[in-house]
Amino acid sequence: MKPRPVDVLVVGAGVVGVCSAWFLQQAGARVVLVDQGAVCSGSSHGNAGLIVPSHCVPLAEPAALAQGLRWLFRPDSPFYIKPRLDADLLRWLWRFRRAATAARVERAIPVLRDLHLASRTLYAEFAAAGVDFEYGERGRVLLCDTDQGLAAAVEEGHHMRNAGLEVEELDRAGIARHLGDLPVNCIGGVFYPQDAHLSPARFVHSLAQRARDAGVEIVESAQVLHIGSQERRATVVDTTRGAFQAEQLVLAAGSWSPELAANLGLHLPIQPAKGYSIEIAAPDDTPAVPFMLHEAKVGVTPLGQGRLRFAGTLELAGLDLTINRRRVDAIVQAVPRYVPGWDPAEFVVREIWRGLRPCTPDGLPALGRPHNWDNVVIAAGHAMIGMSLGPVTGRIVAQIVGGQTPDFDLDLLDPDRFG
Ligand SMILES: Cc1cc2nc3c(=O)[nH]c(=O)nc-3n(C[C@H](O)[C@H](O)[C@H](O)COP(=O)(O)OP(=O)(O)OC[C@H]3O[C@@H](n4cnc5c(N)ncnc54)[C@H](O)[C@@H]3O)c2cc1C
Repeated sequence: MKPRPVDVLVVGAGVVGVCSAWFLQQAGARVVLVDQGAVCSGSSHGNAGLIVPSHCVPLAEPAALAQGLRWLFRPDSPFYIKPRLDADLLRWLWRFRRAATAARVERAIPVLRDLHLASRTLYAEFAAAGVDFEYGERGRVLLCDTDQGLAAAVEEGHHMRNAGLEVEELDRAGIARHLGDLPVNCIGGVFYPQDAHLSPARFVHSLAQRARDAGVEIVESAQVLHIGSQERRATVVDTTRGAFQAEQLVLAAGSWSPELAANLGLHLPIQPAKGYSIEIAAPDDTPAVPFMLHEAKVGVTPLGQGRLRFAGTLELAGLDLTINRRRVDAIVQAVPRYVPGWDPAEFVVREIWRGLRPCTPDGLPALGRPHNWDNVVIAAGHAMIGMSLGPVTGRIVAQIVGGQTPDFDLDLLDPDRFG
């Protein structure tokens, strides 16, 4: 069968793919967006929905390395590696260790800061344009219940202040100012006023609908099986729902991107890092501001329509979507340690979800055009900040496809940097 010609084929309808399709369409391209499942069926569905300029330290950093080694093989810890002999994982860990240096972190911070802040502005514009995703610009509180945890949070706060972000250190009274009537068990914390939050699936679905209305064709249950190529160009893309001949191809397939990139001889060392969320009916005293149970590494996000979401854990277990009850329980059991009035036995659970964060070994996304390819753009590997960086990534993808110079220096995000 003859492949269908299209201007731009975007693979993957998570936040990155949908935002890319949107900005490409707005720039005048005829776009087809394909996904092997439904729109927003990957990591973008049940994440914590936090927009986090305060997360401009990449995942690969010296403190994460030290803490991670302590937690490494403990199945109920916030960070866990399923013991197995996997050459890709071992190489990934080796690269992570090499990337986790103070010098690299210093170079990455201003890049991530500017991307997060630009993305936050785009979210505010989407909200102002009537895209409905329960957006709140109310900041984010870190709650600490140990001296060591508080010291680490305050130190990171200094770092963020030096990077030009707004940071407030909080005593108990300060915490009460932000979290209202909610009785909490903590010794102090930090507030990041520039952070925001939203309902992630609602955003992706609402924007996908707008994109459809504007002319983007979205094909669900269309798994990309093979990407053909000739010289410097990707040619026919075979999917389970027909073949496409795209002038430009955007790979935005999250944790599944390495296999697709390998069709083009590209090495994208992305490890899926599984995380969980538990959504419950929000207790009456739920604050309007999202907060973090700092030592337990659990995010708590108030969503619209009386929903509350707990999210956390990072588990390197490959492309494995099984739900490990022990890790779900570890998240839920951390809650009463900080919020004694919230008894897990009384939670009305709406959804238990797991997703795979697409993690590169240096903690930075792979974003740009690989140098051996004239019509391919990679937009993958956003790890724990993909929701936050989705809109700005989409805008950059559209700029690259349109032959414009992107608004940002993307050197550190070069998709060829892994060799
Ligand atoms: C527990 C948890 C909490 C998180 N909290 C936050 C947060 O608060 N803030 C934040 O910024 N980030 C957060 N994240 C990270 C965020 O969810 C991800 O970075 C982001 O969703 C990645 O988006 P994506 O579009 O790249 O990938 P995905 O959403 O995974 O989308 C990739 C898509 O590609 C499709 N696909 C794959 N292979 C193929 C193929 N062969 N053919 C066709 N389609 C294919 C998949 O079906 C999928 O829909 C969290 C993640 C987890 C797990």
